[in-house]
Order: sequence, then C-alpha cells, then structure tokens
Amino acid sequence: MTGGATGRAPGGLIPVADRIRWLLMCRAGLVAVLLGMRVTATGARVGVVPLAVAVLGWLALTGTTLPAGRRNRFAARFLLNVSLLGDGMLLAISWWALGGLDGPVGSLVLLHSVAVTLLASFRTGTKIALWHSVLALLVLQAKASGLLGAAVAMPGGRFGGYLGALWVTVLATASFAAMNERELRRRRYDSEVLRAFGLAVAPEQDPARIAMMLATFARDELQASRSAVVVQPHESVRPGADGAFAAVIDTDGTGTIHRRPSVPPPIPPAATAGPPTTKLRRSLDPVRHPWLVELMPRARNVIEVPFSTGEVSGVFVVEHPRRSAQRSSQRVEQRAVNTAEQAAAHAAVAIGRAILTDRIRTAADTDGLTGVANRRRFDAVLAGALEQGSPVALLLIDLDHFKRLNDSHGHLAGDEVLRRSAEAIASVCRERGLVARYGGEEFGVILTGAEAATAPQAAELIRDAVSGVPGPVTVTASIGVAACPPHEPTPARLIAAADAALYEAKRTGRNRVVVGTGGADRPVRILQSGADRPM
Ligand code: GH3
Ligand code: MG
Ligand code: MG
Repeated sequence: MTGGATGRAPGGLIPVADRIRWLLMCRAGLVAVLLGMRVTATGARVGVVPLAVAVLGWLALTGTTLPAGRRNRFAARFLLNVSLLGDGMLLAISWWALGGLDGPVGSLVLLHSVAVTLLASFRTGTKIALWHSVLALLVLQAKASGLLGAAVAMPGGRFGGYLGALWVTVLATASFAAMNERELRRRRYDSEVLRAFGLAVAPEQDPARIAMMLATFARDELQASRSAVVVQPHESVRPGADGAFAAVIDTDGTGTIHRRPSVPPPIPPAATAGPPTTKLRRSLDPVRHPWLVELMPRARNVIEVPFSTGEVSGVFVVEHPRRSAQRSSQRVEQRAVNTAEQAAAHAAVAIGRAILTDRIRTAADTDGLTGVANRRRFDAVLAGALEQGSPVALLLIDLDHFKRLNDSHGHLAGDEVLRRSAEAIASVCRERGLVARYGGEEFGVILTGAEAATAPQAAELIRDAVSGVPGPVTVTASIGVAACPPHEPTPARLIAAADAALYEAKRTGRNRVVVGTGGADRPVRILQSGADRPM
C-alpha cells in the first residue's frame, strides 16, 4: 500500500509516517461521529457504553502502533493495513447497529473510503471499498438468514444503489487524485533535477564545460534528440582567446565543443517585440542563427531558449525527436519549456561567473598598456620556475633612448611604440615562454626547460623584431641574458645577473645582446651588436 515508514514512498509525495498520523486523526473523527450518532439514535441494537468501549478501545489501540510504525517501514505497512481492515469491521458493526442501509453510517463508509484513497493510496482506497462492500454484503446476508435477529429480506435494489455510489465515489476520487499526484510528482522531479543541475554547474570554472553540461541535461532530462548551447561572451580581454563557443550533443550522444572568434549577433527582434523569449520552431532560422544551422543541420521541432547575463548571451537549442508524421508539429510540453528555460538560466549565470572570474584573474596578471603579463605575474612565474629546478633563462630587454622618443614625439607616441614593441617581443616568444612588462620601457622574458638553452638566439630574434617596429623613429633594444645560476638559484640572483648583462649592453653601445656567463659580478659575453641609433 505504501513505502517507507518515516521516509517518502519511492516517488511518493508524502512520508508514510504523516499518512498514518492523518489517518489516525480521521479515525478519531470517525469515532466521535459514531458516538454522536449512537447517542442521538433511537432503536439502536448496541448500547452507548459497549459501543464507546469498542470504538475508543480501537482508537487507543491503533494510536499505540504509531511509534512502532515510525521505526520500521514493514511494520508501518502492516499496521496500516490491519488498522484499515479493523476500521471496516467497526463500521460494519455500527452499520448493523445503527439502522443498516437506512441508517446514517453508510455516509461514513463513503467518507472513510474517500479519506483512505486520498491519504493512503488509490490502490488502498479501492481495496478498502471492496472490503466495505464484502462486509456490507455479509451483514445483509446475516440479516436475511436471521442470524442477527428476525430475518429481513435482502434489499437488492437499494444495496446495488449503495454499492454503485460507493464505487463511483472511490474510483472518481482515485482518478482525480492520481492525476494530481502524477502532475505533482513530475513537478517535484523537475525541481529536483534542476536543483541538482544548479548545484553541479555552480562550482564549475570552465565555461565550455558548463555549456556541455547544459547540452547533456537536454538529452538526459528533456529527451532531446540533439541539443546545442551557443555562447557569445560580451567582451574579451584577450582578443581571440575567449571568443564564442558552442557545445553540441549529437544524435549518438557524442559531445563536441566548437569555437569561433565571434558569432554575428542574431538579428534583433522588432523594437516592439521586447526582450527575446523562448520560441518553439519547426526548424532553425538560418538568417538569425547561421552558426547554429551549421552545428545542427536539418534540426526540426526545436525549443530555442535565448539567454543573456551581464557577461554573455547565447541560445540553448533542444531538438525533439520526430515521432509519427501526424505528430511532426507536435505539441512540446510547457513543462519541458519551463525546465529548459530554468536550466538555461542556471547555466548562463554559471558561465557568466566563470568568464568573469577568468577575466578578473587575467586582468590581475596583465599589463594594461601592452597586454603582456605584468610584473606580479613575472615574479610568480620566475619563482615557480626556479622552485621546480628545471633550467631557466631570463632576458631583460630595455628600449634604447626611450626618453628621447617621449621628449621629441610625445608620450602617446611613446605608448604606441611600447605596445608595438611588446607585440613584437611576444610574436617571437609567446610560444616559448613568458613575456612580461618588467617596468617602464623594460620587458622580461622567462624561458624554461629546453627553451632556456636557446635564450641567446631568442634574444637576437627579439632585437631584430623590435628594430622592425613601425613608429615615428626606429626603436632599438638592449638585451641582457642570464641563465639559471648554478648555486642558490634565486629570482634575485638571476635578475641581478641579467641586469648586469643588460648594463653591459648599454655600456658597450646599446642595440645589442649580452649574455652573462655567471652571476652579477662575473664577466659577460657580447653575443652580437648593432649600431646605436640615438633618436
Ligand atoms: P637608455 O637607452 O639608457 O635605456 O635610455 P632611456 O631613455 O630609454 O632610459 P631612461 O631610464 O632614462 O628613460 C626611460 C623612459 O621611459 C623614461 C620614461 O619617460 C619612459 N617611460 C617609462 N614608462 C613609460 C610609459 O608607460 N609610456 C611612455 N610613453 N614612456 C614611458
Ligand atoms: Mg630603462
Ligand atoms: Mg631605456
């Protein structure tokens, strides 16, 4: 009849312990009404006292079983069934004692059956209706055969009417309750899966992974045949690095992440149409969503859920499987639409937050003018590389006569040259190591592992690249190179060594690379030099 004792029945909405308690309250009401009926009845076959002893005793007995039912779910189920069978017996005796079919107890039987149907389960309700029917038949048979006093003929027609009323009431109650419970159960399921989805995406840091989780949710919980999540971040601090992306789940369940520098924004709806809303479409619109059409070719029966937060906007597309031809324009349940919208909202917030966190982290490590790493990141990477114990080489790059450039062409021109010089250095070293603005017009490059051995060659490439930077004048760079000192390899010692080499490059005429052969106080080796070109 019902599931666990204190927990909910599997898929049930109300804990069994609560059901038992409410049925006990119903029983108390039943007992009170029966006693009231007996007190006001004339010609009853049972005295007030014996009836009171019987019904109150039964109420007390079933009340004592409540704690046992709480402890054990099998005991709960057994005691619930026994107590309902006992209720039936009690009502049957009262029915006989208080006037049979003509008496008022018949209505109580109906009420009891309805209460059991609603509080226990539909199946228990129909079983108890059957039990009441059998008991009523037994009482009438016993009366007809003279077992219970003078023989009274079986009132066939009236009994049939009574049974009909009992069964129609119970079955109607059962079907309405079943419908309601099914809907409630579905809603509870939806809210539970959405809650689980919200909890799953909340700690995720990778925006593409969150998008894939949403696409997978569509397949697992919305029965999508295919799904896609297209995300367009609103702005990028690293152009090209965090453009648009899409997570797609195909019919065979495989998930793929696609990336693009950016997606053309969908054509805005008419000004009167308000913010974009969920659309149910027969197919995707190639004009509004050309990339989506590429990602989900020939998609049919789609729910299109647009989403937008401060950081990202995008669309979540759920394709529903095609069933029979006549259902090709099938009605997509409002429930699925609501769930899709809520899941998309959870994911959009999580993606926006992950992107924002990444941007804050990147911004904290990036030099605002040049876009390369800042000094904070430089120090952290250098310390980390030396701690790891792998070979490390450091290049300190200082632009020559930069003050003169500022003085003669203005600081804005100087800024532009700085930006372009950083770009030139990064174009040589981006793949090899870390490029950072060390300060002012100085840059640092950290090369680790196998790259460290190529530091002098990298420095030459950098010197070459800087001298090719377009600007009001040709800019040159002096570069000091230092390898990881063999003893006490600390950042300070490595920087001092590179600085000494850089100083030597300046001292010996600028526009050159000098490789330090030891610590800061050791001799240095001039690798190659160009002519100094005072600006
Ligand atoms: P040297 O060849 O000896 O390195 O000469 P220098 O003029 O490059 O060296 P100095 O240290 O005398 O001057 C560095 C100049 O760099 C001074 C400062 O105005 C300029 N500078 C530092 N940071 C910036 C910046 O962010 N923008 C601009 N425009 N100039 C900067
Ligand atoms: Mg300088
Ligand atoms: Mg300089």
